[in-house]
Amino acid sequence: MRCPFCRHADSRVVDSREVDEGQAIRRRRSCSECGRRFTTSETMVLAVVKRSGVTEQFSRDKVVRGVRRACQGRPVDDDALQQLAQRVEESIRSAGVAEIPSHEVGLAILGPLRELDGVAYLRFASVYRSFSSIEDFEKEIADLREAIAGSTEPDGAPEGREPEDPKDTE
Ligand SMILES: [Zn+2]
Repeated sequence: MRCPFCRHADSRVVDSREVDEGQAIRRRRSCSECGRRFTTSETMVLAVVKRSGVTEQFSRDKVVRGVRRACQGRPVDDDALQQLAQRVEESIRSAGVAEIPSHEVGLAILGPLRELDGVAYLRFASVYRSFSSIEDFEKEIADLREAIAGSTEPDGAPEGREPEDPKDTE
């Protein structure tokens, strides 16, 4: 690993520890030329196997893009999408496998998305599970209602949408 300060090609590891419950290794390195220290992080490459058999590296951005489409016109901001993608990655990584079929990425999205926004969830699920009839939607909506009824979290008013007080400008 090249030194980020002087570009020297050689460095030595002075400390190495597991982080994220063993999902990653962080190494403290010392440059043998300038003596400065820097940190590197090593994570397992998570490969997604597409239906065609082609594999590509798992990407949170791709999850965000896929879900954003389903969230059009819904009160879901970018932070929420990023958090969702992070949860998806964590749940996939926690399975401890190096490769995952792309449809299982979709599966991992469904749970967090359902908590995030029911309408976006239905849109995503309808494509992902290729709903072919109204009955498919009806069944999914019934499940969704049940899940909402069963949740203890109150469905409060939308947050962060208070308009600025116009009375300030007299
Ligand atoms: Zn250096």
